[in-house]
Amino acid sequence: MSQPDDVQAKVEALRAQLERWSHQYYVLDDPKVPDQDYDKALRELQELEAQYPELKDPSSPTQRVGAAPLGAFESVAHPMPMLSLDNAFSDEELSAFLQRVVDRLDVETLPELVAEPKLDGIAVSLIYRQGVLARAATRGDGTHGEDITLNVRTIGSVPLKLRGDKWPELVEIRGEIFMPRAGFEAFNEQARRDGEKPFVNPRNAAAGSLRQLDSRITARRPLAFCAYASGQHPEDDWPKSHWDVLQLFCSWGVPISRYAERLSSLEDCVDYYQRLGEQRDSLSFDIDGIVYKVNDFEAQRKLGFVARAPRWSIARKFPAQEAVTRVTGVEFQV
Ligand code: NAD
Repeated sequence: MSQPDDVQAKVEALRAQLERWSHQYYVLDDPKVPDQDYDKALRELQELEAQYPELKDPSSPTQRVGAAPLGAFESVAHPMPMLSLDNAFSDEELSAFLQRVVDRLDVETLPELVAEPKLDGIAVSLIYRQGVLARAATRGDGTHGEDITLNVRTIGSVPLKLRGDKWPELVEIRGEIFMPRAGFEAFNEQARRDGEKPFVNPRNAAAGSLRQLDSRITARRPLAFCAYASGQHPEDDWPKSHWDVLQLFCSWGVPISRYAERLSSLEDCVDYYQRLGEQRDSLSFDIDGIVYKVNDFEAQRKLGFVARAPRWSIARKFPAQEAVTRVTGVEFQV
């Protein structure tokens, strides 16, 4: 199908704009626009690429995860890609996702799901050898991240050694490093008193704190960790579901979300979203949505992945919060 010239121009303009925003956000930790603007532009580009498949491009922001790091830290390869998540912005989109899961698995009823808060921080991969933290890395562009081991070792809730005495030779634990709200407020208050630039939001604060070249600075930042997935792990003697992996992590003393729940229908998902949405403002940390995951690993394997996201998980985003934040002099709604 041929497309009008203005569509091609629009696609190119959207790609260029998304690249610029991503660089500011992921690489420089200095976002220039609210996430909603980024999400809207990305969705517009996805729709145009779906409508005009001949315009698809493997280097389009719709096909890629994050951004390549700046090079201040050593680059490390992830044993398995660290992907992003597809988004659902309405119950209808969530329902369509669940229907696709049922159709692709060719089953009668929806498989069990796990719902968790979507923490607004930085994704990290932690590799434990013989139960000891051996390496921590950022997600980076999904295949390569930055080695931030020294910084992560300063975070109190990241176990340097797993509890017990029964761990695999090598296991990769993935999760989010974030700055709880109270710590963020206190940190910004101090920054203002010292005449320094405050952070835009807790996510930005976590990103900036983790990517310090001097780990003594990171050590003074109030960061926390919560695990939400396994990466590389042994094939034998390994749990068969996401839920059981979370319980295993917990038994090793690795923090997991106490809000995680097992669900079995669209109604459960909508109810969970509403309940967490009502609690959102009173939580001690920022969340920007709910993540739903197919629980059973065999079903996850059958569903597989697309370019930048698994087909067995989706993020249902919360609407923008009505607070006004200052970002490098530009005021916008978040
Ligand atoms: P994402 O944040 O939408 O979703 C994937 C990430 O969710 C994972 O990498 C993980 O870090 C996180 N996550 C949190 N809780 C999780 C859980 N329980 N289970 C699994 N994952 C969990 O993905 P993304 O690709 O990093 O980025 C897109 C986000 O970044 C969007 O919100 C977008 O608006 C924002 N962004 C903003 C700008 C900007 O300029 N404002 C630029 C680029 C990206």
